[in-house]
Amino acid sequence: MSNAMTSHDCNKVVLKMYLALDGELSTTEMQEFLFELDRCSCCFRSFEQEKAFRTFLVNKIERRCMPENALQKLRDTLGMPNIARI
Ligand SMILES: [Zn+2]
Repeated sequence: MSNAMTSHDCNKVVLKMYLALDGELSTTEMQEFLFELDRCSCCFRSFEQEKAFRTFLVNKIERRCMPENALQKLRDTLGMPNIARI
């Protein structure tokens, strides 16, 4: 624990990412996970993309056909204009 910066492992964080999105992490694990995201822009971006993708899928499955205004709302919520290209 002397230097936390040396122990970052992107593969481990990615594994935790799926658990986090499934709500399988404890509060402590979630805090550690968010800390890892905070220090690695690569992991943070992966997480944001996965989260956006899941949100998109859920909406697509529930609505079958997503109206344009809902898509716009999703883009605004996520702050990801690129999502229109999916
Ligand atoms: Zn990383």
